[in-house]
Amino acid sequence: MPTAIEIFKLLPKKNCGKCNYPTCLAFAMQIANSKAKLQDCPFLSEEALAVLAASAAPPIRLVKFGSGNKVIEMGDETELYRHEKRFFHPTAYALTVSDALDDSAIAQKVERIANIKFERVGQELRFDAIAVKNDSSDAKRFKEAAEAVAAKTDLPIVLVSRSPESMKAAAGAISIRRPLLFGANATNHVQMAAVAKDLNCPLVVSEGKGLDALANLVQLVKSSGIEDIVLDFEAGSMKQLLERSSIVRKVSVKKTFRGLGYPILVDAGSGEPAILKGLLATMKYGSIVLFDELSEARAHPLFVLRQNIYTDPQVPIQVKPGVYPVNAPNESSAVLFTTNFSLTYFTVLSDIEKSKVPIWLLVVDTEGLSVMTAFSAGKLTPESVNACLEASGVKEKSKSGEIIIPGMVSRMSGKLAEATGLKVIVGPKESSGIPKFLKSR
Ligand code: SF4
Repeated sequence: MPTAIEIFKLLPKKNCGKCNYPTCLAFAMQIANSKAKLQDCPFLSEEALAVLAASAAPPIRLVKFGSGNKVIEMGDETELYRHEKRFFHPTAYALTVSDALDDSAIAQKVERIANIKFERVGQELRFDAIAVKNDSSDAKRFKEAAEAVAAKTDLPIVLVSRSPESMKAAAGAISIRRPLLFGANATNHVQMAAVAKDLNCPLVVSEGKGLDALANLVQLVKSSGIEDIVLDFEAGSMKQLLERSSIVRKVSVKKTFRGLGYPILVDAGSGEPAILKGLLATMKYGSIVLFDELSEARAHPLFVLRQNIYTDPQVPIQVKPGVYPVNAPNESSAVLFTTNFSLTYFTVLSDIEKSKVPIWLLVVDTEGLSVMTAFSAGKLTPESVNACLEASGVKEKSKSGEIIIPGMVSRMSGKLAEATGLKVIVGPKESSGIPKFLKSR
C-alpha cells in the first residue's frame, strides 16, 4: 500500500470535499489506512486510478478455484507473522486420485475423502479439494477420471498433468467447476497458458531451478495473459521448501515484489516426508498441499495445527452463551457453569458427557476468555453469572436449587450464593476431574 503522500500526489487537489473529507490530503490519509475507497473521489483520472489500484493491490494475489459455494481462496495475505495481525486463508488440503484407477475405485476413493472429517471446538475439519493425477498419460482417460470425480463430489478439483493435450481434454470437460490446473513448467508453459486462458482457470507454474528462474517463468506466463498464478518450487528438500517459501513471502509482503506475489502449492507426495512437508507448508505460507495418501490418524494433527494457525489471535473462538442440556437433564438436575471460550466449553462438555450424569450446562459470556483469565479480568463475577442464570431461563428448568462452580473460582462462592439464592457447590479445579466429581455426588 502506498503512503498517504504518494497517494496525495496523484489526487486532483481540488479540496472540494465531495469524497466526504474536507481536503485531498485528508482523503489520501484515509485511503492509506484502508478507511476510504478510491472511487469516492469523482475527479480521479483513469490513469491515476489504475496506478493507485495497482499499488494498493494485495502483495500476494488472491487466487480462487472451484465453483458455487465450494470455492477455495488462496493468497491475499498481508503479514509475515501471524501475531502482526492474522493469516486469512487457511492452507487447503487435497488428496489425490489417480486416473490409473478404474471408475469404481475412483468413486470409492472420492467417497472416502469426503467421509474423513473431525470436529474440534465446534468446527468441522475436513479435506478441501481433490487432485486428479494423469498417471495414465492418456488424455481420454484423464478426461474420464476428471468427469468421474466431478460427478461424485462438489469439492474443488486440481488437475495434475504435464501434458497440455491431457489438460485441455480434462479441464475442458469440467471447466464449469473452474479447476486449478497444475501442469505448467519451462517446457510446456506456452501451451498450458493457452489452455488456462481459454478456460479461464488458474494455473500452477513449476520451476525447480530456483526463485530467479521461477520469477522469469511467471513473467512469461503472465505476459501471455494469465493473472491467476500459483507457484510450485519443486523443492527437493525440506530446507529448500522452507527457504523458498520464506523468501517469497518476505519479498512479497515487505518489498512488495509482485513477480512472486502469488499463492504457493506444495505437492507433498506420500509417506513420512509428505507429513513433514504438509506440516512445514501449513506453518510457512503454503496455500494448498497435495497428498497422495493420508490416513485419518496422520491427517488429524495437521488439521488441528492449521486450525490453530489460522484462528484470529485477537478473537478467541466462542460459543453462544446460554443453557445447554447434557445427558438429558430434568428438574432435579443441577446447574454447572463454565465460560464461552470454545476450548473450555468443549472440554467441560466432553467431561460431563463422560460422567453420564444429567446436568444443565450454563455458558456465561466472558468474551471468549477461559475461567481463570475471565475471573482475573473481572469478566466472570457473581453478578455476571446471575445475569446469565436469569437470561437463560435455567431457573425454570432446574429446581435442584444448586449450582456447581469451577474449583478455580471458589472465592466467588459466598457472593454467588447471595446473588442467586442457590446453594453453591465447588467443583474440581480441572475439567478432567468432572466425571469423578459428578459420579461421586
Ligand atoms: Fe480531493 Fe477528490 Fe476529495 Fe475533492 S473529492 S477533496 S478532489 S479527493
